[in-house]
Amino acid sequence: MFKIGLTGGIGSGKTTVADLLHSQGLKIVDADQIARDIVEPGAPALAELAQTFGADIIHPDGTLNRAELAARAFVDQEHTGLLNGITHPRIHEETQRQFAHAEATGEAAVVYDMPLLVDNGLHTGMDLVVVVDVDVDKRIRRLVEWRGLAESDARRRIDAQIDDQIRLAAADVVIDNNGALEALAPQVDALVARIRALS
Ligand code: ADP
Repeated sequence: MFKIGLTGGIGSGKTTVADLLHSQGLKIVDADQIARDIVEPGAPALAELAQTFGADIIHPDGTLNRAELAARAFVDQEHTGLLNGITHPRIHEETQRQFAHAEATGEAAVVYDMPLLVDNGLHTGMDLVVVVDVDVDKRIRRLVEWRGLAESDARRRIDAQIDDQIRLAAADVVIDNNGALEALAPQVDALVARIRALS
């Protein structure tokens, strides 16, 4: 099965590209969705987090209080390590399960939609690495306009990710999303044709 890694800095339009690929019939393994799913109400990881960080990291309705967990986990390396020790193995297991399922159901290709693909060195396991690229200033503007982030928050999140030049250096295909949304479709069409030819 042909594996495509799809990545891009926050606000680059990676999710928009993933949606377009999905609408063309490609199977998507969504890393952000998996990270959310493993801490859904009732999930074992959520109970373990509550045991480790305190029962009040869970809202009264049973959902995870992300702000409270972040405040308790990101205080030092030891606590961050405890958080990662609970979540990372589950994320890894679910990701592997979805890849195996795609393979077992005869998918010729699968897209791994992963913001930290290059940051975490996972691009080396992919057959094709696709990077969605947008200038930093434009990404900040889109995050402020469309997602309602404060400019300082958008900048901080971008700074926490790997440098654009390093991410781009890992790319086999670069999708340029500096232009209008309409400019994405032909680039995605060309990518799908390439994937179909290779897989
Ligand atoms: P990511 O998943 O990379 O963080 P998204 O796909 O969520 O990025 O895009 C960030 C925001 O920018 C979304 O609100 C999206 O609708 C918008 N957006 C994406 N591409 C464009 C574009 N070419 N022009 C204007 N807005 C865009």
